[in-house]
Amino acid sequence: MNGASFAQNARPFLYGGEEEAVQAVLASGQYGHGEVTERFERAVADFLGVDDVVAVASGTVALHLALAVAGIGPGDEVIVPSMTFCASVQAICATGATPRFAEVNAGSLCAGPEEISDALTPATRAVVPVLYGGRAVDLTPLRDELGARSIVLVEDAAHAFGSRTHGRYVGATGQLTCFSFGPIKNLTCGQGGAIVPRSAQEAEQVRRMRLLGMTESPDERARSVSYTVSGPGLRAHLSQLNAAIGLAQLPHFPQMATARRTLWCHYAQALDGVPGIEVVDVQVGASVPSLFAVQVPYREHVFTALRDNGIGVGTHYPPNHLQPAFARWRRPLPVTERIGKRILTLPFHPKMTGHDVETVAEAVRGALR
Ligand SMILES: *Cc1c(COP(=O)(O)O)cnc(C)c1O
Repeated sequence: MNGASFAQNARPFLYGGEEEAVQAVLASGQYGHGEVTERFERAVADFLGVDDVVAVASGTVALHLALAVAGIGPGDEVIVPSMTFCASVQAICATGATPRFAEVNAGSLCAGPEEISDALTPATRAVVPVLYGGRAVDLTPLRDELGARSIVLVEDAAHAFGSRTHGRYVGATGQLTCFSFGPIKNLTCGQGGAIVPRSAQEAEQVRRMRLLGMTESPDERARSVSYTVSGPGLRAHLSQLNAAIGLAQLPHFPQMATARRTLWCHYAQALDGVPGIEVVDVQVGASVPSLFAVQVPYREHVFTALRDNGIGVGTHYPPNHLQPAFARWRRPLPVTERIGKRILTLPFHPKMTGHDVETVAEAVRGALR
């Protein structure tokens, strides 16, 4: 079964224009930040219907810079669900702030208003909602309280490019929002990420920070004998090589969105009524699903049985509060701990056919028998 499209848990999908786009940048000799990156930013902003988007090197650094530009640093506490990719937590730690782990809803695997509210402390300065599987997180019931306490929201929308909430795209709701354009995300640059800033001033600050705190653009620097380092910064720009991939992918996004929704629905139908299995809901009608997750009993057994059948199952995610790196901030999170032992993600990428889904579903049924 090697070579079957369900052998991989996830993989990028190429439409055909990517190679040519990368070759053009290669030939140009300009691999850093440049005009192609700026065209990609403009294209993503137009897609989302927002004023501006700042492209960066990864989703992780998008979160890091978004938190930093929002003034988060040492001594601040940032609420984040434990049920997320470790990148969300490392980005918080990179600012010098302290993660405060929150529980998640057992049906959506997202931390909603209730779970966030339970995690608030007097030291809370920011909340990082994680849009698990692509599902938008609506914190409207908490908005007044968070606002009154000057607590910033920085959305980890790494899974949720193209998803909608209340009729608008995630990223277009006025929140500081971070996307990842890593290899297996809904939209890929090979590697990359973006921040949707809340103001022109915030956009300018992030643009400076992603280029080592230098005031001048690479173009301006080339024409000048000096440059100005005006504040903190990282090497976090998006290479034109990566931007070219994203630019080639973006026009095909509607096709990607449909394929992912269709695949998700096919899985849900194929697994409907299988005893013991619980599908993690992503609100498929409004979302562009980034994975298909289920909770199963005897997860280790099911995982091994499926892997032995050449099926690329995964675990998204081992809870972060149980990781050695984050042990200092551990506290009991019984729901997350139970889910952490039951979670399983099935192969999910647009190259998969309906027949592939049936094959995987049959193997899941077999493993649970
Ligand atoms: C992928 C991912 C990130 C990090 O994005 P990178 O581009 O890989 O740095 C952050 N949070 C979540 C939930 C992710 O899935």
